[in-house]
Amino acid sequence: MNESKQAVGRKTVIVGGVAGGASCAARLRRLDEEREIVLLERGDYISYANCGLPYHVGGTIRRREALLVTSPETMRSRFRVDVRTGHEAVAIDRVRKVVAVRTAAGETYEETYDDLVLATGSEPVRPRLPGIDLPQVRTLWTVPDAVELRRLAAEGGAKRAVVVGGGFIGLETAENLRAAGLSVTVVEAAGQVMAPLDPEMALLVEGELRGHGVELRLGVRVEGFEQRGSGVAVRLAGGETLEADFAVLAIGVKPNGGLAAAAGLAVNARGGICTDDGMRTSDESVYAAGDVAEVAEAGTGARVMVPLAGPANKQGRIAADRLAGREARYAGTQGTSIAKVFSLAVASTGRNEKALRAAGWTRGKEYETATLVQNSHAGYYPGAEPMTIKVLFSLPEGRLLGAQIVGRGGVDKRIDMLATALRFGGDAASLRNLEFAYAPPFSSAKDPVNMAGYVACNVLDGLVRFAEWNEPERRPEAGRLDVREAAEVLAHPVEGAVNIPLGELRGRLGELDKGKAWIVFCATGVRAYNAARILAQKGFGDIKVYPGGVRFHAATHPEPDAEPVAAAASAAKPEEAEDKGGTTRLDCTGMQCPGPILAVHQALQKLPEGARLEVVASDPGFAKDVAAWCRRTGNRLEENTREGSGVRAVVRKGGGEVPAAGGGAAGGGKGKTLVVFDGDLDKLLASLVIANGALAMGRPVTMFFTFWGLAALRKKRPGRIEKTFAETMFGWMLPRGIGQAALSKLDFCGAGRAMMKWVMRRKKIDSAEELLRKAIAGGAKLVACSMSMDVMGIRPEELIDGVEIGGVGTYLADAEEADVNLFI
Ligand code: FAD
Repeated sequence: MNESKQAVGRKTVIVGGVAGGASCAARLRRLDEEREIVLLERGDYISYANCGLPYHVGGTIRRREALLVTSPETMRSRFRVDVRTGHEAVAIDRVRKVVAVRTAAGETYEETYDDLVLATGSEPVRPRLPGIDLPQVRTLWTVPDAVELRRLAAEGGAKRAVVVGGGFIGLETAENLRAAGLSVTVVEAAGQVMAPLDPEMALLVEGELRGHGVELRLGVRVEGFEQRGSGVAVRLAGGETLEADFAVLAIGVKPNGGLAAAAGLAVNARGGICTDDGMRTSDESVYAAGDVAEVAEAGTGARVMVPLAGPANKQGRIAADRLAGREARYAGTQGTSIAKVFSLAVASTGRNEKALRAAGWTRGKEYETATLVQNSHAGYYPGAEPMTIKVLFSLPEGRLLGAQIVGRGGVDKRIDMLATALRFGGDAASLRNLEFAYAPPFSSAKDPVNMAGYVACNVLDGLVRFAEWNEPERRPEAGRLDVREAAEVLAHPVEGAVNIPLGELRGRLGELDKGKAWIVFCATGVRAYNAARILAQKGFGDIKVYPGGVRFHAATHPEPDAEPVAAAASAAKPEEAEDKGGTTRLDCTGMQCPGPILAVHQALQKLPEGARLEVVASDPGFAKDVAAWCRRTGNRLEENTREGSGVRAVVRKGGGEVPAAGGGAAGGGKGKTLVVFDGDLDKLLASLVIANGALAMGRPVTMFFTFWGLAALRKKRPGRIEKTFAETMFGWMLPRGIGQAALSKLDFCGAGRAMMKWVMRRKKIDSAEELLRKAIAGGAKLVACSMSMDVMGIRPEELIDGVEIGGVGTYLADAEEADVNLFI
C-alpha cells in the first residue's frame, strides 16, 4: 500500500469544526497517525447538521441531539483530535506560525502550528438597517438558533412570522414555520424566489408556496424593523408594514474571512479566501476549505464562492490529502443543489439562463434551452409524478451548460444524473445515449434525462423550435394553436387559441394561415411537438412549440382568481362532508394528465344534477385542473386537498356560479348562438364546425334548430309513431337525420353528397354525424323549435337524445347573453 508521508511531530491547527474543518480532521488522522491535530471551534458543537436545522424548527427532526453528527468526545476518542469547543481563533501570526486563541471564559493564549487550515465558514448577512438588532429579528444558522425558533414557534405562542429572503434557507424556514402552525410571509428583494432557478421555473415554486398559505412579497426590499409590543413591524419599501411575532433574516451569507484578511492572506472582494486547486492559500502553510474559500467553477475555471455542504466536505478532505503529502486536486464546483419546498423538490446544477445572459450569451446564437414535462416513472404505474426539466446547452455543439428541475418524485435522481453528465462534459447526444436502469416503478424506458437529450438533439437538428415561456404575450401577432381534446381545453383554455385536436389536424390544416407564425400548445408538449412536425412538413414556416405545454403555461400564468389548493391538514375531514344524494367515487390514481380531467368530465355526464363525485388522483396537477374546470363548467368544487403527493377533490354537479358550456349561452357574454334554419348538408356542416370550435374554446353554445334545420335532429329509425295523414307525408319528405341531408348545390340526386362524404373521409374530416355527436358530447345546448315541430308534425320521440324542445324565448334568452349570433 502506498502510504502517505507520516509527519512525526508535525502539528496542524484547524479553525472551524463543522463541515470543512471536521472532514479535514478526520481524513488527516486516517492518513497520518503521528500528527498532532488541534481543532478550534468557537461554538459549543462541532460537526452539526446545519442543513437539518430548519426541520428541527418545524418538528420533523424532534430531538436536538439528532442534529449533532459527531460529538467532541467521539472526535477525541476515535480520531485522537484535540477538540476545543468554546475556543475562538482571534489572530494569526504567520511569521511566528502562531494562532491567538480566546476561550469562552475570556482567557487568551497562543497555539503554535506547522500547518493551519481555515474552515471558518460563513455567517448570515445582517445589513445595517434600522432595528436590525432587535431581539425579534433572528437568523437560523446554529443549533441554538434552531432551538430558539422552535421554542418560539411551538411553545412561545407565536402566530405570525416574516421571513426575509426567498433563497433555500428562507423557504425551508418558511415551510417549517408553517408546519409549526404560524402564518408566514416571505419578503424577497428580487422578483423571484430561489435565485439558482430562472424566473419561469421559480414561478412553479411560488405557486407551491402560495398553495400552502405562504404569502409572498416579491421585488420589494425591507427597509427596517420596529418594535411593536412584544413583536416586530417589518417596514417594506413602498410603505407597507408587516406585523409579526418575529422575523427571520435569510438574505444571503458572507464568508468569515476577517481572520485571514487581517493576517495578510489574499482574499477576494467579498472577503473569501483565495485558494489554489489544492486548497492552499497565498501562504503555503495555510489552507482554506468550505464556505470561506474562493474556488474554481467546474468547466469554466471562473472564481466563485458556493456555500454548500458537499463542496465544503470535499475541500476539507482535499486539504487533508495535501497536508499528508498526497496528490489531490479540487475539480471545482458547479453549484449542484436541491431543496424541499413543501411537496416540491427544487434542484439545479451548472449555469442558469440568467447567468448566461449576464455573461453576454445570446439565446439562439451561443446557447439554447429545452423545457419539458416528464413523469418520474412510467405513467401507467401508480404514483407517477410530473417534473419540469429545463436544460441549457451550447450552440452549435450542444454541450450541456446547466439544468433545473422542479417536481416531486425522482427529481433528486435526475438532477444528479444531469450533474454527472455536466461534470464529464456531456452533450445533448450523450444525454440521449446514456443507458439507465428501468422498471415501471422507477423510471420509463426513455428516462426523463434521455428525453431531455432527445429534445435537445431535435432542437440542434432544427426539427423543433421552442417558444420562450412568455413569448405568447411578447408576440401577440403569433397565432396560438391548441391541439388538445375539447374537454382538456375546458380545464385550462389558452386564450385566443384555435383548438384543433391533434387527431384532426391533418384534415383541418386549411383552417390555419400558413403565412402566420404559430405557437402550438398541448398538455405537456409532446402532442404539440407532433403537431409542429406535421405543420412544418406541410409548409408552415414559423412554428414554435410552447415548452412544457399548457401544464407549464398554467403554472407560469396563474389566474388571478384561482384559489390556492389547501394542504390536507387544513381541509375539512371527508367523513364530515354532507352526503345527500349519494357520492360516486372515481379513482384516477396512476392516470396522467389529461386522463383524470377527462374521466371527471365523462363521469359527471352520467350523474344527475346535484350528485357528488369524489375523485382521487395521483397527478398533482389535477388539483389546479379540477378547480379551473369546475369554474368553467358551472360545477361546484366542494373540496380540493392535497393528500401526500396526491389530490382528493369533491365535485358537485351543477351549482357553480358561472356555467361555461352546456348551460346555455350565458358565461359573461362570450356565448355563441346559431339559428340552424337550413337543412342542407353543407350548411349544417358549417354550423357544426363553428359550434365545435366555440366549445373547444370553452364558449357556451346554443344551436336553435328550426324549420328545415330541424330534420337534422331526427332519428333514423324512430319506431312506430301515430300521426295524421299530413304529418306522415311531411315525415316522408323530410330527411331522417343529418346523414340524409342533401347538398345545397351539385347534389345530383345524392351523387354529389356521396362524393363529398367520400372526400371528407379520405381527408380524415369528421362526418356531419360525428360533428353532431361531438357537439352534444362537448356540451352544446341543442334546442328544437317547438313551433316548427308542431307545423311539421315532428314528435319529441322522433328526436335524437340530448335535444331540448324550446321556443323562440329560449333562443332569445341565450342570444342576449352571447357575443356571436349566426343565422345559417
Ligand atoms: P460552517 O459549517 O459554517 O462551519 C464553520 C465553523 O467555524 C462554525 O461552527 C463557526 O462557529 C466556526 N468558526 C468561525 N470562525 C471561527 C474562529 N475564528 N474560531 C473558531 N471557530 C470559528 N448546504 C447544502 O449543501 N445543503 C443544504 O440542504 C443546506 N442547508 C442549510 C441549511 C441551513 C439552515 C444552513 C445555515 C446552511 C445550509 N447549508 C446547506 C449550507 C452548509 O451548511 C454550509 O455550506 C456548510 O456547513 C459549510 O461548511 P463550513 O465548514 O465551511 O462552515
